Amino acid sequence: MTDGQSSAGGVAVVLGGSIAGLLAAQALTEAYGEVIVCDRDALRTETSSEPRRGVPQGRHAHGLLAAGREAIEELLPGATDELVAAGVPTGDVLGDLRFFTMGRRLKQTPIGLTGLAASRPFLESYVRRRLAAHPGVRLRERTEVVGLEASGDRTRVTGVRVRPLAEGAAEESLAADLVVDATGRGSRTPHRIAELGYDEPVEERVGVDLAYVTRHYRREPGMLDGDVAVILGPTQDSLRGAFVQVVEGDRFVVTLFGLLGDHPPTDDQGYRNFAKSLSRPDVHEVVEAAEPLDDPVLHRFPYSVRRRYERLRRFPAGLLVVGDAVCSFNPLYGQGMSVAALQARVLRRQLAGGAAPDSKRFFSDIRPVVDAPWQMAAGADLAFPGVEGRRTAVNGLVNRYMARLQAAAEHDASVARTFTRVSNLLDPPSRLMRPDMALRALVGGRSRT
Ligand SMILES: Cc1cc2nc3c(=O)[nH]c(=O)nc-3n(C[C@H](O)[C@H](O)[C@H](O)COP(=O)(O)OP(=O)(O)OC[C@H]3O[C@@H](n4cnc5c(N)ncnc54)[C@H](O)[C@@H]3O)c2cc1C
Repeated sequence: MTDGQSSAGGVAVVLGGSIAGLLAAQALTEAYGEVIVCDRDALRTETSSEPRRGVPQGRHAHGLLAAGREAIEELLPGATDELVAAGVPTGDVLGDLRFFTMGRRLKQTPIGLTGLAASRPFLESYVRRRLAAHPGVRLRERTEVVGLEASGDRTRVTGVRVRPLAEGAAEESLAADLVVDATGRGSRTPHRIAELGYDEPVEERVGVDLAYVTRHYRREPGMLDGDVAVILGPTQDSLRGAFVQVVEGDRFVVTLFGLLGDHPPTDDQGYRNFAKSLSRPDVHEVVEAAEPLDDPVLHRFPYSVRRRYERLRRFPAGLLVVGDAVCSFNPLYGQGMSVAALQARVLRRQLAGGAAPDSKRFFSDIRPVVDAPWQMAAGADLAFPGVEGRRTAVNGLVNRYMARLQAAAEHDASVARTFTRVSNLLDPPSRLMRPDMALRALVGGRSRT
């Protein structure tokens, strides 16, 4: 699993041109003369709010965490200002957000962190436009990846086999000094490395049986009193929730969701009734007051999955895996795009040393980037008795502590800010356990839990 001797450069091929692939490709442009991004879909290079087939989740509300925005800004300097200038609404990630978690409303107070409320397709198309402007980048659209190519002794990946989707086109080989798999949660890398004689990574799963149903609405001035989002999480009494996001084009994306099979209906009346059944009225008010622009669309998410590449003893040189292909998080916590951006930042910083990326070092360095959000999301999910996954004694303790902390965060601005920094991946979860927080949880959370 070593590749640290050779220097970076030559041709890099990125499999998948979604958020993780595009941001990894952006990092690679700093070290590789040619960066080729392959995707099954047509890849437009003008900004657009239109979802595409290969990213069906793109129709649903997508929050970008503060750490993700900062990582994107490092990879694409000026991105925040350009997105705002292009019409993406912006707001303070705590002061302009109505956040209900475990039945508590986080104190809405400014934290001084800018949030971007772009629709998922708009953000992706912006990143792609910036990447495509780089002279060394080639977007191979409508090109399906069908396999890896390896050296005779199978210690190194040397390229990929692709099939252009144009009628009559023949399969072809793309030679590469580095291949990066960013094909999402359906990634075939575990099987492909097994074919080369390597172990598959262990998979950890948390079964949540979640469904999102989403509809877009026209946003009139003054709706939601200027707030940019409402997040209404599930509670022990209600497995239902919602995520309302203001996005470009004076629209709301209204995602209703339900855990453990309590899924929202996709017909107009059923959708509205589900919104009405939520524990707070904010979402139903939007649904009844605003004009719908489309029909409700369903997306099922059966389980979160993490593939433990960092635990493999052997792995072919010349191959990395990023994004949902490594870890597909429960979307309720809004982490996937931000973690993909943080991984691309790890790659960029490794490449700055001039050596070709070493897969062992890469998987080890992205481990902490994945650990914290995975622990937070899986830990919170496992508080629901019906969720399937491995529970430890610590889960119960942490969840009881978090309930107290969230109760304190209703009134205590300092707790609300710390909680927001941690859930935005700016500070580690251990920050919530420090004595000052524990005291505030004890005093502020006791009478209210
Ligand atoms: C319902 C839902 C809601 C979500 N909400 C949020 C949120 O609020 N915030 C957040 O940060 N994240 C959210 N996520 C996660 C987020 O969508 C992903 O983390 C993000 O898209 C990064 O994924 P990715 O680029 O690794 O893979 P994907 O976005 O899944 O993209 C994979 C790409 O690979 C291409 N591809 C796949 N196989 C092949 C092949 N064989 N050949 C060629 N091309 C191929 C596909 O066309 C696609 O473009 C949500 C996910 C879901 C399911």
